[in-house]
Amino acid sequence: MMRDIKSLTLEELKALFKDWKEPPYRVSQLLEWLYLHRATGWSLMRNMPGLLRDRLAQHFSLKILELVLKQGSEDTTQKFLWRLPDGSLVESVLIPANPALYGEASDRHTLCVSTQVGCAYGCKFCASGLDGWKRNLAAEEIVEQVLAVERWHERENLKSQFSNLKSTRAGSREAPPVPRSASPRLINNLVIMGMGEPLANYDQLLKALQILNAPWGGNIGARKMTISTSGLAPQIRKLADEPLQFRLAISLHGATDEVRSRIMPVNRKYPLRELISACEYYREKNGRMLTLEYILISGVNDALDQVEPLARLARRLNAKVNLIPYNEVEGLPWQRPSEAVQEGFLRALTRLKVAATLRCEKGHDIDAACGQLRLKTERALHRVEAPTARG
Ligand code: SAH
Ligand code: SF4
Repeated sequence: MMRDIKSLTLEELKALFKDWKEPPYRVSQLLEWLYLHRATGWSLMRNMPGLLRDRLAQHFSLKILELVLKQGSEDTTQKFLWRLPDGSLVESVLIPANPALYGEASDRHTLCVSTQVGCAYGCKFCASGLDGWKRNLAAEEIVEQVLAVERWHERENLKSQFSNLKSTRAGSREAPPVPRSASPRLINNLVIMGMGEPLANYDQLLKALQILNAPWGGNIGARKMTISTSGLAPQIRKLADEPLQFRLAISLHGATDEVRSRIMPVNRKYPLRELISACEYYREKNGRMLTLEYILISGVNDALDQVEPLARLARRLNAKVNLIPYNEVEGLPWQRPSEAVQEGFLRALTRLKVAATLRCEKGHDIDAACGQLRLKTERALHRVEAPTARG
């Protein structure tokens, strides 16, 4: 299989072009086409010689994600369902930091990206693992989620600029707005909380994040990237030793082994003692605050007897706790507790001097992305395809 051009780092491209006897400035041109203009084809790279473009096309693929479905409205959370070249579906979610309540554009955007098709970890409450694990995403497929969302945004901007242009021409003599070409980065925060267990696809994830962090690539600060994990202790230690220092969020969801093992099979492999010791190592090396994510699921982990052990863990790790009301999944029996229970849990936790927040949804429900859109679409497609297949 051909390597994709967006899996190459600057050093690799420099070595390649040197080998091909191309002048070094061609590397910068190529990088601009890939990451600034987000080019979708070799033929668009007009300032590069045709022979070089042909040679690149013979040796490398230039994978582009195809948008299958988009949910959500302008200036609120938007979910994207992408089709990969092999037909697999993955999700990304765009979350504007300041929904433009009064019409002004939101300037900071967070993107939640997927790292695998499906998930092998089978947490009992999660839609991503329901149909098992299909494959890891390649680095370029993780990088492409950022570029594809930015491309989509650019097109939306152009559409609205052109419609303004038309109405200005029709109505007045004012100078029309000039449509922008490649805009600077739209996305300046990344959360690796989409489908899949990021640390189970360690090498491709790290490569993608390196490209998304590089000034010639995504130019997103490593400290603006949060990796969420269900608790793969050895990989947490490995991540702590990386030169790039990411933020880490742990999907805890249970403050005792008994509760956690009931809903997260990974806890049998890496029980809390091991997980917490890996987190301590991460904190020592990284010096950053960790986040403990805790989904509140009715009758499973929302009783007040979880509060004390949770507070103990949070204090030991100097971590903040992010309480998330469970997002119900079609076909699964788990339910979201009432608001009174959610707030009671939060109050009990803050009383124990733990920094905690309760996520209220209002368009910020990135968890809903966790495999649900893909699962629904896969199943709907399956229903449509099944009768045809049987003839
Ligand atoms: N595999 C990684 C990252 C992806 S899941 C992890 O488990 O951390 C991202 C977050 O969404 C996790 O905290 C996960 O537990 C949570 N999540 C999964 N399904 C959910 C649901 N139905 N409602 C709320 N949160 C959910
Ligand atoms: Fe996988 Fe994370 Fe979902 Fe667990 S919560 S099944 S690790 S995606």
